[in-house]
Amino acid sequence: MLATSAIATGSFAASGSQPSERTGGGHASERDPRQKGPVAIASANGLGTVELAHRLMSSGVDPALAAVDGVALVEADPNDMSVGLGGLPNEMGVVTLDAAVMHGPTHKAGAVAALEDTVHAAAVALKVLQTTDHVLIVGEGARRFARMHGFPEADLLTAKAREAWLRWKQESSKSDDWLDLDEMDWSPDGSKAIPRTTGTIHCSCVTDGGDIGCCTTTSGLSYKIPGRVGDSPIIGAGLFCDNDVGSAGCTGRGEAAMQSLAAYSTVRHMEAGRNPTEAALAALDEVARRSRRQRRLVDDADNPNFQLKIYALRKDGAFGSANMRPGNNAYAVCDAAGARLEKAAIYAE
Ligand code: ASP
Repeated sequence: MLATSAIATGSFAASGSQPSERTGGGHASERDPRQKGPVAIASANGLGTVELAHRLMSSGVDPALAAVDGVALVEADPNDMSVGLGGLPNEMGVVTLDAAVMHGPTHKAGAVAALEDTVHAAAVALKVLQTTDHVLIVGEGARRFARMHGFPEADLLTAKAREAWLRWKQESSKSDDWLDLDEMDWSPDGSKAIPRTTGTIHCSCVTDGGDIGCCTTTSGLSYKIPGRVGDSPIIGAGLFCDNDVGSAGCTGRGEAAMQSLAAYSTVRHMEAGRNPTEAALAALDEVARRSRRQRRLVDDADNPNFQLKIYALRKDGAFGSANMRPGNNAYAVCDAAGARLEKAAIYAE
């Protein structure tokens, strides 16, 4: 049985340190053999996450628990509109969360999907892993499960997210009774429409001894159809780890990650001998090839017109990342050299 994580006991403290940003190009895919200690990687919104996860693993905390506590910082941040509190809601204005955790040493997984009224979806997913024989609990069952474990009920819809949703509703169609922003006689609060966005946090962790854990948590695609579940809580899609090989996770277009089991595929490519960045690129190539079967998913150059980002961490601490398309290609890393942002490779330049 895994120990209780600090977030579950409510005793974790937010990191106060200011990690530095590494702006140089390139991507680290081979680990310097002289380097020791744990490694944590995450999506770009996870600088504090990797710093905390690294610190926890350095003091002996299990890698899955370190990942869950690391992402809890972002889940609790009302300014991150893609995860937990402050996440953008579904089409009906309801914030629903998806999250999953995997634990390499036991090869166990726990996940929740379409969870409402609970900030720390990843910690609830950890409870599924720790206390049940199930992998995935959804909707009202997940909400009830969270209450059973003492997770407090919380209103996740912040004023900023509610305004963004209302503006999206106004702007989303010309053939309804909602006035577009430019048709309004005034804009009383001055707030603007926020287009459909994606965003999530993934965190993969490996201890100095090579044990692996990972976690992905999100409010999912903004303004989604109620009931829609993305890749984040789907084992093999939004995350996967194999304690003999490594770990991987995805952010971006969840439908693409699900249709190609992109995280699973990345780990299998590492097992076949590719370094983490090459493995992520190989998985993106599979996604791209299959996406070309749907014209609406590709651009004029026949490349996918959507973003998908893959993060990969090998058992020996080597790490890498690749993005389907250009754009912000930063991702977060913390190892013995400290917390920083690295640059991912781009599949379709
Ligand atoms: N992958 C998430 C989802 O499809 C969203 C994201 O990462 O942007 O729900």
